[in-house]
Amino acid sequence: MNIILLAPPAAGKGTMSELISKKYDLEPLSTGDLLRAVLNKGDEESVRLKKIMDSGQLIDDDYILSLVKEKLGNNKGYIFDGFPRTINQADALDTLLTSINDKIDKVIYITVPKEVSLKRTIGRRVCPNCKKVYNIYFNKPKNEKICDECGSNLIKRNDDVEEVFNKRYDTYLKETMPLIEYYKNKGLLEEVENIDKEETFAQITKILEEI
Ligand code: AMP
Repeated sequence: MNIILLAPPAAGKGTMSELISKKYDLEPLSTGDLLRAVLNKGDEESVRLKKIMDSGQLIDDDYILSLVKEKLGNNKGYIFDGFPRTINQADALDTLLTSINDKIDKVIYITVPKEVSLKRTIGRRVCPNCKKVYNIYFNKPKNEKICDECGSNLIKRNDDVEEVFNKRYDTYLKETMPLIEYYKNKGLLEEVENIDKEETFAQITKILEEI
C-alpha cells in the first residue's frame, strides 16, 4: 500500500505519518527529513539547499526525485510526507511506481485553518537526537527546552518562523494546491480535517481500512 499525505505546512503530516507507518507497517518517506539529513553534511550542496529551504521555496524537482529514487523499492509500501509537492513531481512518482508495478492507493488531504498552521509552525520544537516533535502551544514537553524522551536540547527549525511560514504557505498555494484537483481527478483524494490527533488518525484509519 502506498499513501500520500498532502497538507499545508505544519498541518500534522509528520505526526500522522508516524502513526500510520506503525499501524500499517509502511515506510515513512519525508523529503523534508531527507533534505535535513543532507544539510547535516555541511558541504557545498547543503549550503545551496539550506538557502532555498530557509527562504520557504521549493528545492528543484530533479534533486527531490533523485532523493526519492534512492529510497523506493521496498516491498511493504510507503507513506509519502511532503512529497509530491508539484504536478511535475506527482507525474514522476506515477512513472516511477508504474515502472516497478506499483501505484498510489490513496491521497489523504489534511486540512487545517491557516492561523492554526501558523501557530503549529512557530510553536514547533524538534529533538535533534530522537526526532520527537513537540509544540509549545499544543503538545508541550515537560521542560520547554528539553526532550521528554531522551533529555536532548530541543531545537526550532530555521524555517519555523512567521516570515518564512508566510512564504512557505504562498508556495504551498501556488505549487502544491493544484495537486488536490490532480488527485481528485484520479479518484484518489480523501479529505480529512485535523481537529485533534486522535480524531484525525481515526478518520484516516477508517479510509485506509476501506482500501
Ligand atoms: P517539510 O519538512 O516537508 O516542511 O519541508 C521543509 C522544506 O524542504 C520545504 O519548505 C522545502 O524547501 C523543502 N522540501 C521538502 N519536500 C520538498 C519537495 N517534495 N519538493 C521541493 N522542496 C521540498
